[in-house]
Amino acid sequence: MRVVIAGAGLAGLSCAKYLVDNGHIPIVLEARDVLGGKVAAWKDEDGDWYETGLHIFFGAYPNMLQLFKELDIEDRLQWKSHSMIFNQPSEPGTYSRFDFPDIPAPANGVTAILSNNDMLSWNEKILFGLGLVPAMLRGQKYLDKCDSKSWTEWLKEHNIPERVNDEVFIAMSKALNFIGPDEISSTVLLTALNRFLQEKNGSKMAFLDGAPPERLCQPMVDYITERGGEVHMNSPLRKIDLNEDSTVKSFTIAPLDSDEKKKVITADAYVSAMPVDLFKLIIPDQWKGINAFSKLDGLIGVPVINIHLWFDKKLTDIDHLLFSRSPLLSVYADMSITCKEYEDPNRSMLELVFAPAKEWINRSDQDIVDATMEELKKLFPTHFIGDDKTKLRKYKVVKTPRSVYKAVPGCQEFRPSQRSPIKNFFLAGDYTMQKYLASMEGAVLSGKLCAETINKEYSKTSNNVSRETSKIN
Ligand SMILES: Cc1cc2nc3c(=O)[nH]c(=O)nc-3n(C[C@H](O)[C@H](O)[C@H](O)COP(=O)(O)OP(=O)(O)OC[C@H]3O[C@@H](n4cnc5c(N)ncnc54)[C@H](O)[C@@H]3O)c2cc1C
Repeated sequence: MRVVIAGAGLAGLSCAKYLVDNGHIPIVLEARDVLGGKVAAWKDEDGDWYETGLHIFFGAYPNMLQLFKELDIEDRLQWKSHSMIFNQPSEPGTYSRFDFPDIPAPANGVTAILSNNDMLSWNEKILFGLGLVPAMLRGQKYLDKCDSKSWTEWLKEHNIPERVNDEVFIAMSKALNFIGPDEISSTVLLTALNRFLQEKNGSKMAFLDGAPPERLCQPMVDYITERGGEVHMNSPLRKIDLNEDSTVKSFTIAPLDSDEKKKVITADAYVSAMPVDLFKLIIPDQWKGINAFSKLDGLIGVPVINIHLWFDKKLTDIDHLLFSRSPLLSVYADMSITCKEYEDPNRSMLELVFAPAKEWINRSDQDIVDATMEELKKLFPTHFIGDDKTKLRKYKVVKTPRSVYKAVPGCQEFRPSQRSPIKNFFLAGDYTMQKYLASMEGAVLSGKLCAETINKEYSKTSNNVSRETSKIN
């Protein structure tokens, strides 16, 4: 059976991968000339990579880890020590660590929290620990219920001092959804904490050993095409054409610069694996009154900026992700240490996530870099003074005005199932309903769930598998 999928991000590629596994023929249409969507990356004029986002893989990503295994590329994940490392704004240039010992969960997480005395007092740790008990015991139902409250409201309700937010959760909520704890749904933080505390290696982090389009997306494309599927770049879906009964008749694609080179693609089933903000723009008028589509108005991508700074010297020797705890920045890492392909023994390349970015997304790259450099002077107080100070060699700024959906309270109910109400139309994407929220794991799982749904529904007609090759050139 032929399935056309719009979007070659992780969700679209995962959907195609699991469709070929079941003997179907996926035809993936990607709008841009680069694979990966929000994990896309490019090479600059010197051959150095720059990326849409600094991406971390967690031990609590079962579907992603399974995918690496199935692609036989597990050795591309560079696992770091089981720790979380925070900058200490009160003592510039110093760090506070949560180190998880090699013992079963949740004892390893509890030990990590109890042995950190820089950030939280004993009273704060006890109150916070007690607050988490219902989340750990009552599972998903409790987590879903908490979607009515922001994280700050949840902390207040559990009598947990505001200082806990300032010390730990401003940094964590910015890392998870690029917004602060007053805005973020408590479901997001509780879901992450639940995974981190209940799974021994849940919070263990890995960096990919190079740029995601080459090191992760390309192996997916090879896997798909070697088994009869197709992936076409520069092929944006422009229009979903309908039959009289509102089912999909075809996808019309056309390069962004020309309507004349229009092509019409037909298939047995159709998938949107586009970001929610762009999918909303092409929903056919006939579908607009259907609840599953109209409620998507409640999901809006959050702005974020990813910054790359190349320096003439080494700034740090820490081989890990760092939580900056800066008002402008979220997490950062020295990629010249953490990522094999970006390795440089003598000079640092910092990749930093700038969030919340609402007030900055329309500012110039130079303004953004200047503000970031001011923050870095606090994080590295000895490196940017004196005769031998560290110099910025070059920079790249990648702005994403609409990235993952902004996970504010009440959002969960707007997230659609992969099974749309239209008989031959399906959805994949990190915003669709799955328990891993807006993440790489969520995207991969959504694609897998989408493929499973299609496979189940069409298995009855599997004798009619169409082996017609795609008409796209
Ligand atoms: C700065 C940043 C940091 C992040 N850090 C992490 C992290 O550390 N860990 C983590 O797990 N997640 C992280 N994420 C989130 C993660 O990147 C996303 O959740 C995930 O990649 C989304 O995948 P997707 O396939 O659902 O969507 P997308 O990646 O958005 O893919 C959609 C694809 O559809 C294509 N498309 C759009 N319009 C059309 C059209 N008309 N026709 C055809 N194709 C179209 C797009 O070009 C794109 O390739 C981060 C994201 C950002 C932006």
